[in-house]
Amino acid sequence: MNKSLVVITGASSGIGAAMAQAFSSQGHPLLLLARRIEKLQALALPNTLCRQVDVTDRQAIAAAVNDAEAQFGEVDLFINNAGCMLLGGLDTQDPAEWQRMFDVNVLGLLNGTYSVLPAMKARKGGTIINISSIAGRKTFPGHAAYCGTKFAVHAMSENLREEVADDNVRVIVIAPGAVETELLSHTTSEEIKAGYEDWKESMGGVINPDDIARTALFAYQQPQNMCIREIVVAATRQQ
Ligand code: NDP
Repeated sequence: MNKSLVVITGASSGIGAAMAQAFSSQGHPLLLLARRIEKLQALALPNTLCRQVDVTDRQAIAAAVNDAEAQFGEVDLFINNAGCMLLGGLDTQDPAEWQRMFDVNVLGLLNGTYSVLPAMKARKGGTIINISSIAGRKTFPGHAAYCGTKFAVHAMSENLREEVADDNVRVIVIAPGAVETELLSHTTSEEIKAGYEDWKESMGGVINPDDIARTALFAYQQPQNMCIREIVVAATRQQ
């Protein structure tokens, strides 16, 4: 059983929390990052360091990684999962919302990658999993800024994968369709939220965080010389 250190950002709810449970159940020590540290601690997973870290703070991520490596050895897998979705029309939503999505979904993901990439390249091994979205492959009304962040995740991941291929580092993108989590709750427009709920109902419900956790485990557990570059996973009835 592989017991290398796994880092998961945004592990305090939804997909991140499900991935933490899944990787822990396989015997991995974990470093879990999010702002709500009490929710990380409530997962009560063994061999796990929980740190209150905002992914927009590059130094804080690096410090947490250093502490975890001192305890558990080098990071073999870093999952950039933290993200936010603040849906709205570009002309009607508060510009601070676009700013936040780019800060967290794009710059936060670069910060996380930067904290482990030099060491992975130096030792010629390691895996980065970036959680994007189906909204990184196709567009939806009211999603312009969110889609912009997730299209960026695909572009950056593909570019990075080419850059580090010779160093035997894998870069994997998982792009979920709608998943039942807290993600929608942060959108401020009640009208958009209601429309989104109706859309989920029209397809008979959406997939669960455990479905994505299983997908991440599957991708990671392939041999290091095989990189699943991208997985798009959604409810069968999602259009
Ligand atoms: P949740 O809202 O349940 O989880 C988001 C996580 O990100 C939380 O743990 C939150 O923790 C963390 N987070 C948000 N901002 C920051 C920050 N600045 N610093 C550190 N952590 C942060 O939603 P999901 O589980 O659905 O989202 C996880 C990922 O999956 C996101 O990247 C999302 O875009 C993506 N995704 C989700 C889909 C869905 O339908 N649910 C579909 C496609 C992709 P805290 O608030 O404690 O900091």
